[in-house]
Amino acid sequence: MKDDSLSYWTGKSVVVTGGARGQGAAEVVALTAAGAHVHAVDVHPEDSHWWVDLIEQVGDGRRLLNTIVADVATESGWETVADAVRDCGVPLAGLVNNAGITLRKTLSETTLPEWDRVMGINLTGAYLGIRTLAPLLEDGGAIVNISSTAGLTGYFSAAYTASKWGLRGLTKASALELAPRNIRVNCICPGLVETPMMNSANAVHDLDTARLLHDGNRDATLLDRGAHPAELAAAALFLLGPDSSFVNAADLPVDGGMIGGGIYWRIGKATGNLGARP
Ligand code: NAD
Repeated sequence: MKDDSLSYWTGKSVVVTGGARGQGAAEVVALTAAGAHVHAVDVHPEDSHWWVDLIEQVGDGRRLLNTIVADVATESGWETVADAVRDCGVPLAGLVNNAGITLRKTLSETTLPEWDRVMGINLTGAYLGIRTLAPLLEDGGAIVNISSTAGLTGYFSAAYTASKWGLRGLTKASALELAPRNIRVNCICPGLVETPMMNSANAVHDLDTARLLHDGNRDATLLDRGAHPAELAAAALFLLGPDSSFVNAADLPVDGGMIGGGIYWRIGKATGNLGARP
């Protein structure tokens, strides 16, 4: 079984957006380790330490890695990616629309430019990616869109929530369109993942507030921890590859049980009925 899945990736290429760090980097590392050629796309400049760190993590798989500095929110960015895929000449078997940004603001705090920016990267970026690369994808390939548990429930950040619900709709609509070519399109809905996104300050929240948000997410997770990015990469490889050949137009929560039971987990812990660990 293992050897089959390794040989599946030999002579195939995959595009991963947001590939320089976090979950995207973990996907790049896992795919190159499995033998795939990977086009890692990110906005970080070429000399950024995120790329340097990624190349170090990829190690011997460096010859399989192509780094592309491009903005997924633009058509020109995707044309750059498409040119690189054509130039490389290795058949394209997969696309992971992973690039995303967060905006920790409620609807009334969110300005129109902020709303447009979140939508532009998180949702329009994936639409442009599928529209540009679907013609280059080989029949039988697969697309994975990275949504969020915020795409399965209400979350205080209106723009982020709407973009992640939108990604689920985009997933289903594109699965219908690409089914005749046996190209499957699925969605992953991560819960808390230990990446720079969840562990850094941003324009709205200082590090202490970011920590509180992080810990609040962890407290609503049955497994009582955030995921390692590699745990998301494993799910992405499953959905990209032959082991998921009958999984299509689906949403896969990879969240330690947050959506499945997080509300009653918190209530149960507060009332003393649940949560005692041996
Ligand atoms: P991250 O911030 O560590 O990585 C995201 C990457 O996307 C960064 O390298 C960033 O530069 C890149 N990116 C942003 N805008 C881009 C653009 N316009 N063009 C190209 N690249 C761009 O975050 P992460 O946690 O690895 O996030 C990956 C995905 O998972 C995102 O879509 C995020 O919304 C989603 N997600 C994350 C969590 C979490 O807890 N970390 C939870 C649910 C969903």
